[in-house]
Amino acid sequence: MRGNKRLWIIALMMVLALVAAACGDDEEDGDTGDDTGGETEETYEAPEGTPMAEWQEEGSVTIGVKFDVPPFGFENPQSGEVEGFDIDMGNYIADRLGVEPEFIEAISDNRIPFLEDGTADLILSTMTITTDRDAEIDFSRPYYVAQGRILVPEGSDIAGIDDLGQGTSVCTAIGSTYEATLSDQAPDAQLDLVDSYSECFELLQNGSVDAVSTDDVILTGMVIQDESLQLVGDPLTTEPYGVGVAEGETEAADFLSETVEMSFDDGTWDEMYEEWVGQHTGEDPQHPSELTLEDAYELFPCDETC
Ligand code: GLU
Repeated sequence: MRGNKRLWIIALMMVLALVAAACGDDEEDGDTGDDTGGETEETYEAPEGTPMAEWQEEGSVTIGVKFDVPPFGFENPQSGEVEGFDIDMGNYIADRLGVEPEFIEAISDNRIPFLEDGTADLILSTMTITTDRDAEIDFSRPYYVAQGRILVPEGSDIAGIDDLGQGTSVCTAIGSTYEATLSDQAPDAQLDLVDSYSECFELLQNGSVDAVSTDDVILTGMVIQDESLQLVGDPLTTEPYGVGVAEGETEAADFLSETVEMSFDDGTWDEMYEEWVGQHTGEDPQHPSELTLEDAYELFPCDETC
């Protein structure tokens, strides 16, 4: 009997020790949650059967970004990591889901095909929300508003869109909104269409083209790399950026809109702006918290330029 009682006490102590250890683990899990990609109590609970639930099951989300467009998406030559505003927004979305972001390169022309064939789950690649694109994919609410501009070398005779006439050449990316904008607003200029903006940058630097035209943030990235280049003329267009998902993934688009809004409300967007844009332009952050998806269609009206 006495032996049995001793065994009981030992068993009880072992159980208590295990319970204490488990409680300790719980506390540790709580502490380390933040360090492991944002798996905190705020991790989003995805409704079953949604793309978000699928990403959580896989533990990762594949995000198409630019690799050659500082300061929105570029490979840092020192670290080899991809960085920028779009990458930070991608990290923020992945953190909310509690999954790892996997960034892949998406140039202007393959953004929509990548969503259509499942190569990417999300596109965060300086992509303007247009009604034409919205017929092929779904968008979140706007998370950034850029403007179309022209970039020329110092001393150029080109001071605006009206100077892009006969005998001049202008570079932009295939699959960008500027294919249509330039054909419409500078019909006499030679349009040099290339795959990536880094190619336009090289062509401008070596004098093969007279100007580059695209979003101001992309052109600002070129000026940061080469201060002899300058932005000229009035804005050509207004380009509201949205996060893209495959057509019909309405729940994902809603989740993304909500997440973008959270970044406005909790100060993350302001921090991202300061790091990637504000410190270069000296302008204050102004997140597009008043803009809905429908407003975006008005800002970039396809009936005129697409
Ligand atoms: N925002 C424009 C677009 O989506 C130009 C920038 C780009 O080509 O990524 O077409």
